[in-house]
Amino acid sequence: MLDMTAADELDVVVVGAGFAGLYALHKFRDQGLSVRVFEAAPEVGGTWYFNRYPGARCDVESVDYSYSFSDELQQEWTWTEKYATQPEILAYLNWVADTLDLRRDITFDTRVTSAVLDENTLRWSVTTEDARVTTARFVVMATGALSAAITPAFDGLDSFGGEIYHTAHWPHEGVDFTGKRVAVIGTGSSGIQSIPVFAEQANHLYVFQRTPNYSIPAGNSVLTAEQVAEVKANYAERRRLSMRSGGGSPYVGTTTPTMEVSAQERQEAFEKRWRLGGVLFSKTFPDQLTDQTANDEARKFWEEKVRAVIDDAGVAELLIPDDHPIGTKRICTDSNYFQTFNRPNVTLISVRRTPIVSLDRTGITTSAEHVDLDAIVFATGFDALTGALGKIDIVGRGGERLAEDWADGPRSYLGLGDDGFPNLFVVTGPGAPAVLANMVLHAEAHVDWIAAAIGYLNANGYAGIEARPDAVENWLAELDQRAATTLFPKANSWYLGANVPGKPRVFMLFIGGFGVYNDICAEVAADGYRGFDLIRKS
Ligand code: FAD
Ligand code: NAP
Repeated sequence: MLDMTAADELDVVVVGAGFAGLYALHKFRDQGLSVRVFEAAPEVGGTWYFNRYPGARCDVESVDYSYSFSDELQQEWTWTEKYATQPEILAYLNWVADTLDLRRDITFDTRVTSAVLDENTLRWSVTTEDARVTTARFVVMATGALSAAITPAFDGLDSFGGEIYHTAHWPHEGVDFTGKRVAVIGTGSSGIQSIPVFAEQANHLYVFQRTPNYSIPAGNSVLTAEQVAEVKANYAERRRLSMRSGGGSPYVGTTTPTMEVSAQERQEAFEKRWRLGGVLFSKTFPDQLTDQTANDEARKFWEEKVRAVIDDAGVAELLIPDDHPIGTKRICTDSNYFQTFNRPNVTLISVRRTPIVSLDRTGITTSAEHVDLDAIVFATGFDALTGALGKIDIVGRGGERLAEDWADGPRSYLGLGDDGFPNLFVVTGPGAPAVLANMVLHAEAHVDWIAAAIGYLNANGYAGIEARPDAVENWLAELDQRAATTLFPKANSWYLGANVPGKPRVFMLFIGGFGVYNDICAEVAADGYRGFDLIRKS
């Protein structure tokens, strides 16, 4: 058992040991602060510890989806593929934890259940599920935007006699579907990555699709020694471009609007992005996510490509989305997803046409049929952005709970702080670009900003920092206004909380681009933390 008697009063408690929490620990410790990380899992890794389903990979290129803060780390580690597999990313995070000697300040297998502010001392009491209380001046929530998985409450769920899995809680020992009748419910990124792999193993695979999704071939490949050497030689520039970019990757799209180039140039630009692979297709032209006509052009290009690889026109009809503009839900990144439906052992079931009615001992009943099954995989996503925070009882000034404060949607200034909750920071959560950007660089940018803010408070004799109510209101209005100028509100996406019954429908992200957001945060800091109250020691 870890003896924390001497360390029970800390400068910073960090919750979560994924990409964000690990860097936070390193950064704050380097700054001379006493830090403890609490992590519910038995190991580091967060997303990459839990999401072990076959086919799981990053959809931002590995060389970009990795820490930039240490040139030694980025020079020493060598990624083997364009899009690294989950085991490789997890190995990387373990290697970083070892190299930076992070584990000694992480308490594993320990879930934080509450964080309560003492207004007099401006310290937080953080309670873990073993009823232990730790006090800290600052709390940094690195709890993950996609860490609270959802299993829909289907009638009869508990009665199913076969195996049940969720992609976000995949068994460590792996699963063998050989010879089995398997269902996958959900066709988001997790479903789209895993379905082709399951199809190769299962006797028969039934894909239960509610909303069809846009997906682009990953174009994954093994990285050659020359490619790696080139990236390593130019890392500084690659990172600089990423930090300035819209989404945290070093690629610059066409600057001319879609309809102002010739049809041939348009086609070539789409083709180039298609070949680049992955999510960046949605940023081929600057107006693609703001102008319906521009979006339709991208969609047409995509549709032609995809129809060409699906054998059955009826199946293609079901697989082609018609209810949201391309890119307004995260574009998925696949390896042979659409081709998988050409296999004789794969059946697509549209639950829009024939909804799931119930589960029973032997399988799933839809409004049209009963499907006998040996295993069901839920690829049904997450209570994104607010889910993990909502499971912690966070109590701020005057006994106000964050859950109540956020009842109509998450409130924050810059996504970093909220009025009534001084010295509490959230990393890559609602109010920031978060999942619209490369989350590793984003976490670094947030942690750097928080570390600088703490440094500023200490250097100037302040006890705390707290977002002002007017700054929060203005920021929420800005998020709203920016979203309203785009096509994003047209999709029932998890960006809007639309995937969770009862969740307020609010566009939760800053959509102005990662580089623009980083500039705003830097300006706020340079202006003496404009919009925050800096609280003197009493
Ligand atoms: P997480 O990795 O989610 O870590 C949060 C940690 O906090 C978890 O370990 C959790 O156990 C812990 N925690 C939460 N609540 C508590 C509590 N109360 N007490 C103690 N511990 C707690 N993003 C990209 O930019 N590019 C990608 O290619 C990409 N691919 C993804 C693939 C998958 C399958 C998924 C699910 C997400 C992907 N993402 C991707 C988003 C991904 O979540 C982030 O990139 C990144 O890994 C998040 O790191 P994090 O540290 O912020 O959160
Ligand atoms: P998701 O995108 O939310 O997809 C969940 C799927 O389950 C959707 O198809 C959804 O349908 C379906 N679903 C949910 N409830 C259902 C119900 N009751 N009945 C039938 N279908 C239901 O979740 P995800 O695939 O786990 O991905 C979440 C995010 O994680 C991604 O957007 C991405 O940011 C990240 N991720 C990235 C990668 C990667 O490629 N690197 C891989 C996995 C995840 P509806 O669309 O109709 O709601």
